[in-house]
Amino acid sequence: MEELRKKTKEVRIGDVIIGGIHPVAIQSMTNTKTEDAASTVAQILKLEAAGCEIIRCAVPTMEAAEALKEIKKQIHIPLVADIHFDYRLAIAAIENGADKIRINPGNIGSEERLRAVVDKAKERNIPIRVGVNSGSLEKPLLEKYGGVTAEGIVESALDKVRMIEDMGYDNLVVSIKSSDVMMCVKAHELIAKECPYPLHVGITEAGTVYSGNVKSSAGLGIILYEGIGNTIRVSLTGDPLEEVKTAKLILKTLGLRKGGIEVVSCPTCGRTKIDLIGLANQVETMVADIPLDIKVAVMGCVVNGPGEAKEADIGIAGGQGEGLLIKKGEIVKKVKEEELLETLRQELLNWKR
Ligand code: SF4
Repeated sequence: MEELRKKTKEVRIGDVIIGGIHPVAIQSMTNTKTEDAASTVAQILKLEAAGCEIIRCAVPTMEAAEALKEIKKQIHIPLVADIHFDYRLAIAAIENGADKIRINPGNIGSEERLRAVVDKAKERNIPIRVGVNSGSLEKPLLEKYGGVTAEGIVESALDKVRMIEDMGYDNLVVSIKSSDVMMCVKAHELIAKECPYPLHVGITEAGTVYSGNVKSSAGLGIILYEGIGNTIRVSLTGDPLEEVKTAKLILKTLGLRKGGIEVVSCPTCGRTKIDLIGLANQVETMVADIPLDIKVAVMGCVVNGPGEAKEADIGIAGGQGEGLLIKKGEIVKKVKEEELLETLRQELLNWKR
């Protein structure tokens, strides 16, 4: 499964290396105004704490490009500048310390302008992510393939890669995106066979937190499971913190990440006698900062809860007025319902590693 991923070139983005045997890195993108360095830094620090490993900021103005210098000083993860249309912004972003730039060579202007950007990247040896979206597919490719297709997206991306290779630069990362999940999967399957560069994967315009999470989990799940993808971003119309949380969970679910507490909870049924939905959410929030690599179960009844929580290291099962503390399916003690959460917290804080 890991074959394709391991075959990609290694690319260094600041202190993070992607590609080859390196773990799939989690990216997110700020949604503050990059020109407002203080707000952008504040958001990045929160994202770092949540597990974001590479951060991207939009650079739509020269002021934003200049703000990168201040932002870089105050954050601890690599900073990627996202540029559209204006090659001067790409050059300024590099000069102001961006660890990588993301451009679509198709919309950056003439070959000369692209060459100026490539030369600047070469000078600092920073990678360029060549990003192609289904929405920006060129007319000849739309005509050749009869509309937007996976083949067209891949051909467009490979054309752009070749343009930069022909300019003597191969410090590249590639991304191809489509909001059509299965088209996106197919495009990744095709490009992974053709392209030696690390792939940044994501489902674009995936939607609100709910639909974006579902689409991203389905699409990224297949792509990553096929051994494709070196960095991921879950795109959500929402708080980027949610993107990072989802990305982490996708990687953990696929066995590509270890660590952190996994909370499992029962679906509730007619036997449930407590507010399990509220309790499970409280537990999930409570364990987020506890550095243990164990499974915690939150079950809705004392009858079947202990048995159904056998695979969890520790758990709680709620009854009427009182609940149970369980370890590996065995009842450890009875506790008052209102003390369940705190009892679990104390057990986790004193957990012997
Ligand atoms: S643990 Fe109890 S409440 Fe939860 S689904 Fe099973 S039987 Fe129902």
